[in-house]
Amino acid sequence: MPTTAPALEIDGLIKDFGPVGALDGRMMRVLDGVNLRALHGAVTVLLGANGAGKTTTLECAQGLQRANGGLVRLLGEDPYRASPHLRARVGVMLQDGGLPPSVRPLALLRHVASMYSAPLPVDALAERLGLDEFGAVSIRRLSGGQKQRLALACALVGRPEVVFLDEPSAGLDPQSRTIVFDLIRELRADGLAVILTTHLLDDAQRLADYVYIVEGGRTVAEGTVAELTADKDSDGVRELRFDTVPGLTLPPELLPHLRQLESEPGQYVLRGELTASDVAHLAQWWAACGVMPTTISLAPRSLEDVFLDISGRSIR
Ligand code: ATP
Repeated sequence: MPTTAPALEIDGLIKDFGPVGALDGRMMRVLDGVNLRALHGAVTVLLGANGAGKTTTLECAQGLQRANGGLVRLLGEDPYRASPHLRARVGVMLQDGGLPPSVRPLALLRHVASMYSAPLPVDALAERLGLDEFGAVSIRRLSGGQKQRLALACALVGRPEVVFLDEPSAGLDPQSRTIVFDLIRELRADGLAVILTTHLLDDAQRLADYVYIVEGGRTVAEGTVAELTADKDSDGVRELRFDTVPGLTLPPELLPHLRQLESEPGQYVLRGELTASDVAHLAQWWAACGVMPTTISLAPRSLEDVFLDISGRSIR
């Protein structure tokens, strides 16, 4: 039955692991205030750097870990105490797959499908995700991307109302990624609540209806990609490219103005909310060093810029 209630609600989630040391018995607080609401018919993305707490949040949401504080409601129930009935309505794709190595992919998918009363047609799903190409070899012989597609199929075959995908595009080549993303979008259109974690900004930018940025075990920002990247106080991010010459180093007084600094072979690539006087300052330095800029452009803010603003570091 269609519902407007959120598929998943997390409020002030706290999770401690430990004890840290055998002697002192201290616990380590890994989640310290994660908030999240995921709706049906939407892709909700948990974005954060390695170790930010994304997987632990999903584990609490799925009922695999018991929260030490805060509220977690999955389809209206406490997932940790949930009935088997709730579990049948939820699909899970774990980060490491958890697939049995000696079983053949299509045999596994058929086995998982047989546990549900109204599974998706196995052959069509297998063909859609390209599993039929390697359906008869054992799982241990599959590549990372092939295992990833099989794990996704297993998570989806029971027609879940909510699906959790932990880093779904890890190991996928660009073509497989497009196939997987198209399938996720179709299922979303059918009302599925998709909750996925990623540290890939491009995934979030391409798929997300709503993004939660997690940093140090807390939700530190949320919004649609458009909301998060809207320019509130600046007139844009400038991207500057110029050739490097041997021995060239950027003057340190310019660095505080640069929000992001990358270098590509033979080129400096700078992005930042630079003012006209910053650019003038750079121009003087270019002239002094005999360096010509190759590109100066005004670009919209990206999720990477947002992440840098919030955490002061790159997500990668
Ligand atoms: P990644 O992108 O690397 O998967 P993540 O955002 O999913 O990272 P988590 O796996 O949730 O992060 O880990 C958050 C923190 O909790 C990390 O510092 C991790 O070392 C710690 N952690 C996770 N599980 C445990 C555990 N069972 N015992 C102790 N610490 C843990």
